[in-house]
Amino acid sequence: MNSDSSPVMPNNGTNLIEVLTAQAAPKPFTYALPANMDAPRGQLVEVPLGSKKSFGVVLGPSSETIPAHKIKTIHALVDAPTLSPVMLDFILWVADYCMAPAGNILAMLLGGQSAQKNPKKERSAKKEAEHAPVQKPVLSAEQLSAANSLIATLGNFSVTLLDGVTGSGKTEVFCEAICAAMAQGKQCLLLLPEISLTTQIFSRLESRFGFAPILWHSGLTPAQRRNAWKAIAHGKAPMVIGARSALFLPFKNLGLIVVDEEHDGSYKQEEGVIYHARDMAVMRGKLENLPVILSSATPSLETMVNMQSKRYGHVTLPQRHGIAKPPHIHLIDLRQEKLTAKNWISPTLQQAMREAIARGEQALLFINRRGYAPLTLCRACGYRFQCPSCSSWLVEHRQDGKHRLNCHHCDYACAYPRACPSCKAEDKLAACGPGIERLAEEAKKLFPDARHAILASDTQNNLSEVQRIVDAMGKGEIDILIGTQIVAKGYHFPKLTVVGVIDADLGLQGGDLRAAERTFQLLYQVAGRSGRADDNGHVYLQTTQPQHAVMQNLKNHNRDGLMNVLVAEREKFSMPPFARLATLTLSGTNHATVTQAAHMLAQLIPEQAGFRVLGPAPAPMALLRGRHRQRFLIQSPKSAKMQAFMRTWLSKANLSKNIRLHIDIDPQSFG
Ligand code: ADP
Ligand code: ZN
Repeated sequence: MNSDSSPVMPNNGTNLIEVLTAQAAPKPFTYALPANMDAPRGQLVEVPLGSKKSFGVVLGPSSETIPAHKIKTIHALVDAPTLSPVMLDFILWVADYCMAPAGNILAMLLGGQSAQKNPKKERSAKKEAEHAPVQKPVLSAEQLSAANSLIATLGNFSVTLLDGVTGSGKTEVFCEAICAAMAQGKQCLLLLPEISLTTQIFSRLESRFGFAPILWHSGLTPAQRRNAWKAIAHGKAPMVIGARSALFLPFKNLGLIVVDEEHDGSYKQEEGVIYHARDMAVMRGKLENLPVILSSATPSLETMVNMQSKRYGHVTLPQRHGIAKPPHIHLIDLRQEKLTAKNWISPTLQQAMREAIARGEQALLFINRRGYAPLTLCRACGYRFQCPSCSSWLVEHRQDGKHRLNCHHCDYACAYPRACPSCKAEDKLAACGPGIERLAEEAKKLFPDARHAILASDTQNNLSEVQRIVDAMGKGEIDILIGTQIVAKGYHFPKLTVVGVIDADLGLQGGDLRAAERTFQLLYQVAGRSGRADDNGHVYLQTTQPQHAVMQNLKNHNRDGLMNVLVAEREKFSMPPFARLATLTLSGTNHATVTQAAHMLAQLIPEQAGFRVLGPAPAPMALLRGRHRQRFLIQSPKSAKMQAFMRTWLSKANLSKNIRLHIDIDPQSFG
């Protein structure tokens, strides 16, 4: 629509409408509506876009004047309910808040192309799901009163923190609220941080409700996706369990959102549209006037502050269900109890594992590092293997008989070499430090007769494999499970009584804003896997900093003690949630161009009271997937309009096409 000289159509005669298409366009497009077609605001449509087709949603009449021959006509209406005004508001609000193209939010709502494509052959409708008998536990008095408090929130917007130690029955309690909402004819959404968790909870809820909930995550087949989407949009799915993207689905009649393990970092999507599903869930609850339940044993600091200031309600379950007790936490001071060379399981931990296995119980070893060893170096010349495209060491992997070096930030991989690429010395390469595979090797040596299994986040993409291991562990067919952070997430293993954390200090390195909070949450959750039935759980934290506030408060079960210290720190240093942060990252393949662009942007920083911009500086991952990265950190008072500031700033910039911008509002990680 530029220097074209063809006559401009006066827009009469044809109905022109504005359509938000489902991709990263800067604004909606204008289309003509065929005479026989009626498309109200919220109607989903199929439109031509360039040489392709796209889905879109009608926003309303268009007042744009466009040369007649440039106007394209809508292909078809999508056979789906029109989006409600609130849903459209939600899309636009998220786009505005996250500074992302609204079309990308719409794409999430549509659930991808495959959810919309018409199947080649319409299969005969599946028979109605059979109803199984409902298995409902008898709630304790405490659980019952918690459930009633949650049920009382139905009908209006509110946010309630369901705060209970691991194993206290939070799941049972929010299920009561879900049941009550469904009885009122409402749909419910349960968000989980991890797809692999959906399978375990799925069977549990299926027997609790007597019918199968609808699942929504990236592992669905196109047909499953299409069916699930339709059921949700037509209001035929009373109960949906999903990963974060499920939050954008167009429920016809949503009445309750539960965000389980609300503290979990996986709720933050770091690529594409950068958003925090928990925060967006609260906003959706507000716009749709429905209650949101945030469930956790280790709530995020943000949620704690909202709870303390009474913006969020607070429902507690202070005790484990039945006779299960909180685990005993033992700190193993690695400065006192020395490890032998190339060994990481301390004698104290070994002893505890031995006794547990002898009693027919299970042990879990936790290390948050995939692969065999995080660093490989040449003993002859000191050369360290680094990824050619990222600022990170290559990680040795040995599993599946393939000995290789992998980058954990990009796809780079190579066969494990015999010779050092720098000094050519042969057989001088040494593995430094333990990863999960190396730890498993040690455990096998120590306990050759025990049954071992590894559960690493590598396995995550292989859902059935995760499911198999989780099932086997639940049935007691595994004696020692060795896992990365995936094992910290909500699993229920009744016979697990000993948990060993190999390097409890790992997350404290690096000085991230949330290092202490995250480490506490992770270790607490790992610890919470133990002693969930009647047996007593024992957790061994191997640390060189036993005096650290995180370790001490874990040992003393003093979550709130630690939280209060951290809250005071955040307030003192004007950090979130007492202030706002955003990061702006520039990246490009040419180092000089990126640095130049960053300096150009630095000249354009708007003068605005209360705003502080730090940088540009190389991002902690200064090179990622072959792109050099420079970063600004923006800090503002809580009440300030961060997005407006960013827009003013960026509107003045004229960046070359080679530079990519990445805006993260409320950043969670600073890599
Ligand atoms: P949380 O979600 O707080 O970790 P869960 O809801 O998973 O706790 O409960 C932990 C275990 O205790 C589960 O196996 C659950 O079925 C059981 N449980 C909790 N409450 C009851 C109850 N009232 N009756 C029977 N079993 C219960
Ligand atoms: Zn890499």
